[in-house]
Amino acid sequence: MSRWQINPEQITRTLAEMVRIDSVNPSLVPGAAGEGRMAEWLSRACESLGLEVRTQETAEGRPNVIARWPGRGGGRSLLLTGHTDIVGTEGMTIEPFEPRIEDGRMYGRGTMDMKGGLAAILGAVAALRAGGFEPAGDLLLGFVTDEEYVSIGSEALVKTVRADAAILTEPTGLEIVIAHRGYAWLSLETRGRAAHGSLYDVGIDAIAHMGRVLNTLERMEQEVLPRRKHPLLGRPSVHTSAIEGGLSWAIYPDRCTLKIEHRTLPGETGEDVLALWENALAELSSADPTFSATARLEFFRPAYEIERDEPIAAVLGEAFRAATRKEPVYSGMRAWLDSAILGPAGIPTVIFGPGGEGMHAAVEYVYLEDVFRCAAVLAGAAALWTGTAT
Ligand SMILES: [Zn+2]
Repeated sequence: MSRWQINPEQITRTLAEMVRIDSVNPSLVPGAAGEGRMAEWLSRACESLGLEVRTQETAEGRPNVIARWPGRGGGRSLLLTGHTDIVGTEGMTIEPFEPRIEDGRMYGRGTMDMKGGLAAILGAVAALRAGGFEPAGDLLLGFVTDEEYVSIGSEALVKTVRADAAILTEPTGLEIVIAHRGYAWLSLETRGRAAHGSLYDVGIDAIAHMGRVLNTLERMEQEVLPRRKHPLLGRPSVHTSAIEGGLSWAIYPDRCTLKIEHRTLPGETGEDVLALWENALAELSSADPTFSATARLEFFRPAYEIERDEPIAAVLGEAFRAATRKEPVYSGMRAWLDSAILGPAGIPTVIFGPGGEGMHAAVEYVYLEDVFRCAAVLAGAAALWTGTAT
């Protein structure tokens, strides 16, 4: 067993208090509460754990909270991090901000994604404090805004925080996640020629031409992308997101735009995805000189991957074995996470958090036992990583 005794009652209380705070991301839901009250609450929680606390404004009323347990020197620093925003509550069939416990699960918006992970971080620090731990390297906590939109929180955090490694406590069902996919958003536009509906020899039908693009997309999805495979992440994928075009019954449409999303594997860049489409569109226009289309890359977030024998992944595995007497499972995650910002900023990151169901869905819950175990493993990992002077 771990020598760091976590306190399940305290962690449950901590989690329930956070779930009661509405922190819906205002970029997702206009007018929503935002992360301000969560930041205030977390600042106080970190102060009462005896940590140095500061906030970092990421947008108006939306601060990151950065807490520091200074090391006595000579050790490695560790960042424990997670996001404070949650997605909207529309369509939920449970009370979003009134946490309810049943069968070892806590229900409510953000229980799984990811206030459970934040409660585990606080529970781990409390256990280390109670056990008289003294870190050699700094133990840092970073509670960031806006992960559910475009991650302005983590973008800001890596500008001011340096750490030798990080553990991101997004929900992983207690698996050690060492890879996740990225994504690219593109706009494709076909251009035709507007003309009176009777002028078949003048008009060029931009929407019909987009049909060819859609055929290409389906072929890409079914035949081309499955050829690439990653051992933990499977294949890349593409799907359509929205389409727009046309004016009226009796007019040839002069343009049609299609928004699409690619989900990418480690090593793929936005430029790679764009080139895929530029080639496909060039092929279509060489087959028909009236076909004219362009592709634009609107937004890109890379995939992420870290080797399982990287020191932080190995230390977390060791702490997992010590706390649970089980072998850790190393895995990949489909969704994009803030690790793709932390890693490229020079902070090797692994993802490890509790399990549950219903992220972004009508009924969301986290397994409380997972939150406790996560806290125990985090405490062990933090002690191993920051504890000994090097
Ligand atoms: Zn999340």
